[in-house]
Amino acid sequence: MTVRVPAKVNLQLAVGPPRADGYHDLVNVFHAVSLFDEVTASAAGSATGSATGSGTGGSGVTVEVTGESAGEVPLDEDNLAVRAARALARHAGRPPGVRLVIRKAIPVAGGMAGGSADAAAALVACDRLWGLGLPAARLMDIGAELGSDVPFALLGGTAVGTGRGERLSPLPDAGPFHWVFALAGGGLSTPAVYAECDRLRAAAGQDPGEPAISTALVAALAAGDARALGAALANDLEPAALALRPSLAGVLAAGREHGALGALVSGSGPTCAFLAGSAGRAKSLAAALRAAGVCRAAVTAAGPVPGATVVSGG
Ligand code: ATP
Repeated sequence: MTVRVPAKVNLQLAVGPPRADGYHDLVNVFHAVSLFDEVTASAAGSATGSATGSGTGGSGVTVEVTGESAGEVPLDEDNLAVRAARALARHAGRPPGVRLVIRKAIPVAGGMAGGSADAAAALVACDRLWGLGLPAARLMDIGAELGSDVPFALLGGTAVGTGRGERLSPLPDAGPFHWVFALAGGGLSTPAVYAECDRLRAAAGQDPGEPAISTALVAALAAGDARALGAALANDLEPAALALRPSLAGVLAAGREHGALGALVSGSGPTCAFLAGSAGRAKSLAAALRAAGVCRAAVTAAGPVPGATVVSGG
């Protein structure tokens, strides 16, 4: 059972003050893009392919990871796909026997929710493999327990998340929109970026207030207006990501110089996202970023795309 699952970019990430429970209230506009991981679930003990790494991931669940930065992905209980398989088995009241193979293309710790994507894919793949047939709403609830980005990886498209980001409402979107992602060497820790955001705001005496959705962004999405969308892109975590990784300022500047309609750090970074006016312009922008030598790799993608989808074995 193989499930394909997209990365996300945050078109708007508005971050409120830290709450008593340590989380932040967010307004988070998620957009699923055509940069995919694949998760294959098969019966425990079945044959393996070539693997960059593998581990037992706790009793009854084994995991192998190949592809983009596979060596940086944990192979034990910390792997979000392993946690997802175990959570689903617990909810279904059955043993968690499964072999997971994750083929990564989403950058690890890149601000594109790759781990959450793999968790969503594992939920869908194990649900089918085990013949559970749980309703989508139930998988979303289990996903929300695993992480606030997991429900969106199940849903896909474009959606606004409130609360910690996990309460989702789809947004009208007249895409496709064309993107370039500049991948960095090494990741950024999401908690460290939130902490730096709080620290910078406190040092500047800023009160962020309640986060609110950008009406300009919503209108640009509904109209399919890439130029207006580019102008409305906004990420409250960007100053913190730039403080922790100053070289990202040069990446954003290079993208703008080469004609991006909008440029921002994706989520907690360090991946930078650039909006282009067409697929052709995205391709030439990616080539320009590679030639400028400002990033480890530059890839093109389009959005919106559907969430976790069975591609074979279903
Ligand atoms: P987000 O945007 O949701 O904050 P991210 O894209 O910055 O996340 P991820 O790629 O999801 O980051 O990885 C964050 C950390 O999660 C990694 O450093 C890794 O240790 C851990 N992790 C656990 N499971 C996975 C997985 N299946 N794929 C990638 N990372 C994983």
